[in-house]
Amino acid sequence: MSGIDLHTHSTVSDGTDSPSELVANAAASGLDVIGLCDHDTIDGWDEALTAGEAAGVRVLRGIEMSCDLKGVSIHLLAYGTRAQDAELAAELARNRAGRSERVPTMLARLAEHGLPVPEEVLYRHVGDSPSVGRPHFADAMVELGYVADRRQAFDQWLADDQPIYVARYSTDLETALDLVRAAGGATVIAHPWGRSSRASLPTRYLASLVASRRLDGIEVDHNDHDDQTRAELRALATTAYALITGSSDYHGAGKQDHDLGCNTTSPEVLAELERRVHARGGLL
Ligand code: AMP
Ligand code: ZN
Ligand code: FE
Ligand code: FE
Repeated sequence: MSGIDLHTHSTVSDGTDSPSELVANAAASGLDVIGLCDHDTIDGWDEALTAGEAAGVRVLRGIEMSCDLKGVSIHLLAYGTRAQDAELAAELARNRAGRSERVPTMLARLAEHGLPVPEEVLYRHVGDSPSVGRPHFADAMVELGYVADRRQAFDQWLADDQPIYVARYSTDLETALDLVRAAGGATVIAHPWGRSSRASLPTRYLASLVASRRLDGIEVDHNDHDDQTRAELRALATTAYALITGSSDYHGAGKQDHDLGCNTTSPEVLAELERRVHARGGLL
């Protein structure tokens, strides 16, 4: 039984546990290793690593990078990139700016739909996060009594095909793969066949990214994938020699059915990720 959960979020993006609380909850859940993969930011790394040392939980330096593939949103997990890499840092800053720039338009649309959200209510939920996301809007809508929970906020208003959705800048996927590797990191496509991204990431394309050594792994075990999808992705990853990861995508109270450790990754895959990161001059 391995306790390796490679994809979690804290309040530094849209999770509800601070990095320290996340580590404490990981320890309480019996996890040995967690990957902290906040959206488009590394600001939670230091606190989580310090808390991890005290709690006996190994914290991996991760990022969930917002990417674009021909107009479709794709999430890329980056592991072990150098914090000082200026090019990657600049690109993450562009993604965060894109997140902030859409806020006024989203607030205006909410008001047009009879759901006014005062800016200060939204920003109370954003808190210290440098990476404002739709879940913060959802939490503000819950507080104002417009919806019962994040799930309903997305289903009725915020999801990509719903009225409040506003597109934002995200890094071109292949540019992101190259930036992450140049920064010493390993690359794993997050939940590739969850929600709406499956059509954009067909088997042949994913296999070609692995064959060209730009992509290291595929997140197969994720709760946005049903059993059939996992079986198909596992077969693809095995044939393509991609590393297979599993993770919870834990967001604290913000995402139901994504409990810490609900999916895990093998020690062999973690060792291989670590080997590749070290070979590239990164730090996991
Ligand atoms: P954003 O970063 O603003 O694009 O929001 C994306 C985040 O919102 C994801 O990382 C998930 O945490 C959450 N999310 C996106 N789509 C949905 C959905 N349909 N239902 C629930 N949560 C979602
Ligand atoms: Zn999220
Ligand atoms: Fe994601
Ligand atoms: Fe995530």
